[in-house]
Amino acid sequence: MPRPIQARIDLSALEHNLQVARRSTSARIMAVIKANAYGHGLLRTASALNAAEGFALLDVRDAVRLREMGFRQTLLLLEGCFSADDMALLAAHELACVVHTPQQLAMLDAYPRREGLQVWLKVNSGMNRLGFAPQDVPAVMGRLKAHPAVREVTLMTHFASAGEAAGMAGQLECFNHAVAPYRAARSLANSAALLRFPQAHGDWVRPGIMLYGSSPFDDTSAEQLGLKPVMTLTSEIIAVQQLRAGECIGYGGTFCADAAMRIGIVACGYGDGYPRHAATGTPVLVDGQRTRTLGRVSMDMLCVDLGALSGAEVGSSVTLWGAGLSIDEVARAAGTISYELLCVLTARVPVVE
Ligand SMILES: *Cc1c(COP(=O)(O)O)cnc(C)c1O
Repeated sequence: MPRPIQARIDLSALEHNLQVARRSTSARIMAVIKANAYGHGLLRTASALNAAEGFALLDVRDAVRLREMGFRQTLLLLEGCFSADDMALLAAHELACVVHTPQQLAMLDAYPRREGLQVWLKVNSGMNRLGFAPQDVPAVMGRLKAHPAVREVTLMTHFASAGEAAGMAGQLECFNHAVAPYRAARSLANSAALLRFPQAHGDWVRPGIMLYGSSPFDDTSAEQLGLKPVMTLTSEIIAVQQLRAGECIGYGGTFCADAAMRIGIVACGYGDGYPRHAATGTPVLVDGQRTRTLGRVSMDMLCVDLGALSGAEVGSSVTLWGAGLSIDEVARAAGTISYELLCVLTARVPVVE
């Protein structure tokens, strides 16, 4: 028997969440599947989201793999090409690439062929991470339009604080002003903007986290948004301990019992990707019933309170997040966001359908 931890992926929930995105916009949908589809598995996720018009990712080898598997959608490299070798693969596999630096423009100029490349020009509208400054857009657009290898240009930007419309308005205005003179498709919206900021939908929206069933907002739950959790991380209780008053649990003994109590030891720790910073009180389900973690998370184990769960025993099922327990709630208790929990699941956790 393998260790009982596993992450189960609900493919129908992926399809459902894509429908939620679809109902929220008339723009084309570029499903973001970077970071191994936020930990859900690249190929299974792309297959479940096959109705999307495009996929956005980072690694050119993943894009080639999808093409070779028969995916016909627009495949966009979100950070563009890292070398001339990458660029050579674009035409052969009909991949679209972001261009966000003068170095990438130079790579494009050195491109020997005349095939019709699809370029997504990234404009820095205020996040100050990737993209050309608004005042450089006319010169860059001029070069791209004159370039013999470039067939189509899409104009894109990314929001720094898409949680509230107020945070997006300034960037939207900056972007709209910079791209106003050009007839080209536009792409701005991540999940948050897709759900709350229709003025920024443009021609292509780029949802990521919402497709995986997690909320991009602090003030609205995934359930309230009609999203279904896609990944459910489960394990089992592998030992039960009876503590006496005053006895403490785990490394550092950070939790001590006030009175006699029963605790369960769960086969899941930070070596699996569970957050070590999840403090005592982080929610967890045992046999489907809500309880809390106790003490420090160790590499392979964590402890849970079985006080109110007299039926729980070795072998009882434990849900760390997913169906029945929102990953957003767990993330909040650990001082992080669901994105991180999903991506840092480690290789030793089997991901199954
Ligand atoms: C990751 C990413 C997205 C998706 O963001 P979510 O918040 O997960 O919806 C969209 N656009 C770009 C450029 C990204 O890097």
